[in-house]
Amino acid sequence: KKVVVTGGSGLIGKRLTALLLEKGYEVAHLSRGTQPVTGVKVYQWDVARKYIDPAALEDVHYLVHLAGTNVAEGRWTEERMKYILHSRTDTLALLAETLDARGIRPAAFVSSSGTGYYGKDTGDTRLTEGDLPGADFLGQVCVAWEKAADAIRDMGVRTVKLRTGVVLSRDGGALPQIAAPARFGFGAPLGSGGQWISWIHIEDICRMYIDALENEHWEGPYNAVAGQPVTNAVLTRQICEVLHKPQWLPNVPGFLLKAALGEMSSVVLGSNYAVNHRVAGETSFQYSFPDLKAALKKELG
Ligand code: NDP
Repeated sequence: KKVVVTGGSGLIGKRLTALLLEKGYEVAHLSRGTQPVTGVKVYQWDVARKYIDPAALEDVHYLVHLAGTNVAEGRWTEERMKYILHSRTDTLALLAETLDARGIRPAAFVSSSGTGYYGKDTGDTRLTEGDLPGADFLGQVCVAWEKAADAIRDMGVRTVKLRTGVVLSRDGGALPQIAAPARFGFGAPLGSGGQWISWIHIEDICRMYIDALENEHWEGPYNAVAGQPVTNAVLTRQICEVLHKPQWLPNVPGFLLKAALGEMSSVVLGSNYAVNHRVAGETSFQYSFPDLKAALKKELG
């Protein structure tokens, strides 16, 4: 069975691809690049030119959408913010148009989304899938992203949206950046340190994609997070413990982070407590890393 993955060259895509190949799937990437990937067919697309390799979606059984420019790279200028949005929605629109024009209907479609859906700073509020989206930039990006995914759902394709928390991996994303100062003995909570971080281990998010593709009871949006979000202070302390480093510095003041990062500082200073009730209560998904310490030991040990 052929699985087409957009953005398959990224952090989640690489690990997901390896797991799909292990399970015996045929994997095809839709990529802007031409970099060969062992065991994978790489097809090109160019959304600005509305080009998609005609062979890419042939015989597709499952479709995964991970493509999108990294939200944590570069300052959020007006231009950058447009790019963050359009690299997610225009890619989806091109996929939907192509599927529609060619009458192709995958058995299931899973799209990434983010816990940023609920807004950049929701304090201690327990966030569930039925809650309203935030009015801020990332909240509205997630709304548009999920709406664009619904164009494929509306063709009768079972569609799942994984509102992903902070993915913990040694290979990229937030963890290496948070852990870098701690490795040198400069571990310090960011801002108040009381902000909630809804995290998930890389293995679990990738296994969740596969579970959602394979099992028909998955449908609609899910908070793709582990069962126990932690505060930034607890995350920092546990990272220091796993690395056997002291944590002696005071908190890094929020205003410094705002000055350094601009609007994007909301990514590290905002608080999101997303609960995984839908995953835990309505699916049979079993987490490999429900516990933060074990997840950190695996990635930093
Ligand atoms: P990465 O940034 O590692 O990879 C995303 C991939 O998208 C890239 O490898 C690239 O593939 C493709 N891409 C980048 N820019 C564009 C563009 N302008 N147009 C089309 N494709 C583009 O992301 P992750 O693997 O970390 O995440 C996958 C998805 O999950 C993203 O949408 C992300 O926002 C979301 N997510 C991730 C979280 C995390 O903690 N990692 C948390 C919440 C959500 P190529 O160069 O081959 O075209």
